[in-house]
Amino acid sequence: MSKTAHPPPPPVRVAGPVSIARLHAEACFYRRAVTKTLTTAGTIVVAGVERVWPIVTCGHHTTVAW
Ligand SMILES: [Zn+2]
Repeated sequence: MSKTAHPPPPPVRVAGPVSIARLHAEACFYRRAVTKTLTTAGTIVVAGVERVWPIVTCGHHTTVAW
């Protein structure tokens, strides 16, 4: 018997632009915080750029404040 792995959630499509620090997971995707512990938080796809980027957040919000 083999377990079925849970597939990762699909990337969140965002309009952008998204700073390179966020795309490179160097800053919280939602609030730019860089001094807190950042954890992986899924992936995004920026409109017009067909590439999936992993993102990180400091964990307490799920909406974007550009
Ligand atoms: Zn944050």
